[in-house]
Amino acid sequence: VSSNDARSIDVATPLGLTPALDGWRREVRDFLADEMADAPAHQDPLDLTGLDETFERAHHRRAGARGYLGISMPAAVGGGGRPPSWKAMYSFEAAYADAPSIDTALVLCGAPLLDFGSPDQHERWLRPMVRGELTGCIAYSEPDAGSDLAALTSVATPDGDGWVLRGHKALVTGAHKADVCLTAARTDPTVPTRRGMSMFVLPLDLPGVEVTRRATMNRWTLSEIVFDGVRLGPDALLGERHRGWSQMLQALGDERSGAAHLGWATRLVEDLHRCAPNDPRVAQLRVELEAGLRLGRRVLALADGAHAEPGVTPLDALPAPAAVANPIVAAAMSKTFVTELLQRIATVGADLEGLDGLRWGTLFDGGSRFAYELVERIHPTISVGANEVQRDTIARFGLGLPVA
Ligand SMILES: Cc1cc2nc3c(=O)[nH]c(=O)nc-3n(C[C@H](O)[C@H](O)[C@H](O)COP(=O)(O)OP(=O)(O)OC[C@H]3O[C@@H](n4cnc5c(N)ncnc54)[C@H](O)[C@@H]3O)c2cc1C
Repeated sequence: VSSNDARSIDVATPLGLTPALDGWRREVRDFLADEMADAPAHQDPLDLTGLDETFERAHHRRAGARGYLGISMPAAVGGGGRPPSWKAMYSFEAAYADAPSIDTALVLCGAPLLDFGSPDQHERWLRPMVRGELTGCIAYSEPDAGSDLAALTSVATPDGDGWVLRGHKALVTGAHKADVCLTAARTDPTVPTRRGMSMFVLPLDLPGVEVTRRATMNRWTLSEIVFDGVRLGPDALLGERHRGWSQMLQALGDERSGAAHLGWATRLVEDLHRCAPNDPRVAQLRVELEAGLRLGRRVLALADGAHAEPGVTPLDALPAPAAVANPIVAAAMSKTFVTELLQRIATVGADLEGLDGLRWGTLFDGGSRFAYELVERIHPTISVGANEVQRDTIARFGLGLPVA
């Protein structure tokens, strides 16, 4: 669906995009439509993106060369210096087009490297990532430490001026193809994790690193990583020693902008509207999408607030009660609503497809998209902060309810 297609849903109005930001969004949409034209010839059903690594890396380099992957990074690290909403709109359009962007500076590793990396780490890891020449993964979760990251057991022990890392990470997106990994390990096991954990950045080809792919329900793979006595130099520490907990929370907050979820939801509701414009369930989803876009608008406006140039409001925030003027609460509301909306869209889509909805397939192989979606949209309500935890956040910080 091109940007001028009459079937497109107007997202600029509910998202409150300025003409400049909407112009950027359209530029990205056109770029990605060209990029994805021959994507079906590059299928890799074992990858989350559904596409092979050669295709992805070539695409990342082209996006990086245009300055897209660092659009909201400062110029000092090779970025475009735009407010966070510009990066979010790239993620929105990448999801809309099913384009692979997750392993780049734009989504996973960019923000924590920027926020906590030293000038040397920016030079070594972040700048090439912004150029689209290097991919990264995040390895925080462990087999017994998912939502409760305080339970993590990986340990980095001081060794000379560096460290020795031991641990077992799980559910890692894209580790099988990533060049570099950000991880978290306890650096003072005698105190609670929140006070004795640090973050590290390391290349995945170091001796002692073993990556194993594990199949998901939708056939693509997540990875486990075993760190078996991996020797790290002092330059592997990301940010401050023992301050990893607060750093990690800040980094996870950045992953929750939810723009990608809105991009998928918009594209899928458009597909449903094209096929069944008079179905009342589709009309209902259309209304819910509009609500989701308005929740997203608040997240973007709050994120941009701190970055706006003097006298310029990049996004026009909707009037909001004080409870949702808190960026963490706004992001929790948006993440919860839109990930659950994606499940409702998948259910209606598969139902409307009837028997075709039983033709499960991978992302680009021409099977039922909604059968794929039914399975795929289970996990976003659990990952990047389970929705139950998000609801606790809304109750506590938005509504001021006491903690149980
Ligand atoms: C597709 C996918 C990609 C991922 N990618 C990465 C990655 O790249 N890097 C990485 O480090 N991690 C990654 N994760 C892990 C993810 O971020 C979550 O931490 C993880 O999925 C949640 O842990 P768990 O699966 O062990 O579930 P658990 O934490 O064991 O949760 C099980 C159930 O309990 C519920 N629950 C948990 N806590 C509470 C609570 N406080 N109150 C009420 N209910 C609760 C959950 O909603 C869920 O239904 C990924 C996960 C998925 C599914």
